[in-house]
Amino acid sequence: MDKPKAICWDMDGTLGLFDSVQLLMEGTSVPPDMEKVVRPLSIRYKLREALQELRGMGIVHYVTTSAPKEIADAAVSMAGISGFFEGIFGNGTVNGIGGRCKRYMPVAEDLGYSMEEAVANMVVVGDGVADKPSDLDGLVFILQPSGAYHDAFVPMEIVKKLLEAGKGHFKRGFDFLYETANQEERNRRVDLGNGIKFDVNYTSRTFEDFMGELVVPTITCLPAEGYRMKPEVITFINKRRKH
Ligand SMILES: [Mg+2]
Repeated sequence: MDKPKAICWDMDGTLGLFDSVQLLMEGTSVPPDMEKVVRPLSIRYKLREALQELRGMGIVHYVTTSAPKEIADAAVSMAGISGFFEGIFGNGTVNGIGGRCKRYMPVAEDLGYSMEEAVANMVVVGDGVADKPSDLDGLVFILQPSGAYHDAFVPMEIVKKLLEAGKGHFKRGFDFLYETANQEERNRRVDLGNGIKFDVNYTSRTFEDFMGELVVPTITCLPAEGYRMKPEVITFINKRRKH
């Protein structure tokens, strides 16, 4: 039987907006000077549907966040999406050096994957360069800036495209897309024809976690205005009463 595929999801800014979680956990109201900066607990539009559909394709989901584990557990639970995730890994597990990158070997280990199997079967989805893999050479990274403000259909379609192009192998899917992409000035661009476009690029960097140069096959989503959607509010936060 095929090994399951896995998506490592960044939490804040990718799955939704979770900056209010700590206040909600403490049951405190929002200080007046913070009312404008703390956003209600929200998940991205159609997140549940996308997670469900991907699961139906044999894909398991992990949260890989630089938030503390207890905050991540609470966030996912408050958002009512715990049941979709195989594992929730917090900062102590995934943070790379200085928080500028993340480690994904813990997910591979949880699934019993060698490094080769991890690169074939795993993919990372995040909204910032700090989500970039630092420990698995060739692990595909899907970067969608302000992802939480877009329909979850976008990363889902990209994951499907990678699997289709690589016949079930994420890294080979990326390699194929890179080879066949349109050359636009200095970028190689893929247009899925449904309003979703992205650039493909091999970024390489030396990380302290990794011996030698690590190559990150990176998909950078272009703004997908047709999929821009407000996140779905789960819980409003209490505002402090004015006396
Ligand atoms: Mg993020």
